[in-house]
Amino acid sequence: MVPGARLIVLGKQGSGKGTQCTRLSHRYVVPHISTGDMLRVEVKSRTPLGLQARRYLDAGDLIPDEIVLAMVAARLDRDDTRTRGFVLDGFPRTVAQADGFDELLKPAVIDLVLNLVIPTEMVLARLVSRRVCEDCGAIYSTSVPPKLNWTCDVCGGEVVQREDDTEEAIKNRLDLYETQTAPLVARYAALDKLVDVSGVGTPDEVNLRLTSVIDAYQHGGGFFPPVPPEERP
Ligand code: ADP
Repeated sequence: MVPGARLIVLGKQGSGKGTQCTRLSHRYVVPHISTGDMLRVEVKSRTPLGLQARRYLDAGDLIPDEIVLAMVAARLDRDDTRTRGFVLDGFPRTVAQADGFDELLKPAVIDLVLNLVIPTEMVLARLVSRRVCEDCGAIYSTSVPPKLNWTCDVCGGEVVQREDDTEEAIKNRLDLYETQTAPLVARYAALDKLVDVSGVGTPDEVNLRLTSVIDAYQHGGGFFPPVPPEERP
C-alpha cells in the first residue's frame, strides 16, 4: 500500500504548483487541496462564501485568514485527509494561516514543505499564456492547449483564461506573495521541513525532482503510517 503523506507545496504564482500538486496527489494517493480551486467553485456556484470572496479574487487580494482557515478546517475533517493526508496547494499563504493550520492539524504534523523556486521573469510569461478548465481546474497554456477546441481533456469543461490573470492582478498577487507568503519559507526551514526544488524545466522534469525528494523521505521512514479505521477520530 502506498503510504499517506502530508505535503505543502509553496511557490509563487506560475511556479507550476497546480500542475505538480495534481500529479503528486495521483502518485501518493492523497487529495489535492487547492484553496484557489475551492474558492473559484464557491464563486461559480454563487454561495454566500463565493459572493463574499469574489471581489478579493478578481483583484488578486487575499481572502481573510479566518475565512480560509474555516474552509480548510471543514475539508480536513473529511475521511480522505484523515486517513491518507493531503497535498496542499495555495495554503497556507500567511504566517497566521500557518499558525492556525498547525493547531488544526494537531496532534499530527506536516511531513514536508516543497518550495518550487523559479525566476519572476519566467512566471510572468507562464501566467500570461496560462489557460484553465472552468469546471475541474485542469491547467493548459496557449502552447499546450487541450486536444479539441478549448474543451478540457479531463472533464469536457470550457478552458478559459482566469479572470485574475490580468497584468494588474498578477502584479498584486506576486507582491502579496513576497510580503505575505515568502516568510513561510524561513518558518518551515527553521522547523527542518523545507526542501527547495527548482521549478524550471518541463512538468516531467520538475515532477521527477519532487518525487525524488519525497521518495527519499519516504524510504527514510518519514511518512506517517495509515490510520486503521478503528483508531480514526
Ligand atoms: P495564484 O497562486 O495564481 O494566486 P490560486 O488559485 O492559488 O492562484 O488563488 C487564487 C486566489 O484565491 C488568490 O489570489 C486569492 O484571492 C484566493 N486565495 C487562494 N488561496 C488563498 C489563501 N490561502 N489565502 C487567502 N486567499 C487565497
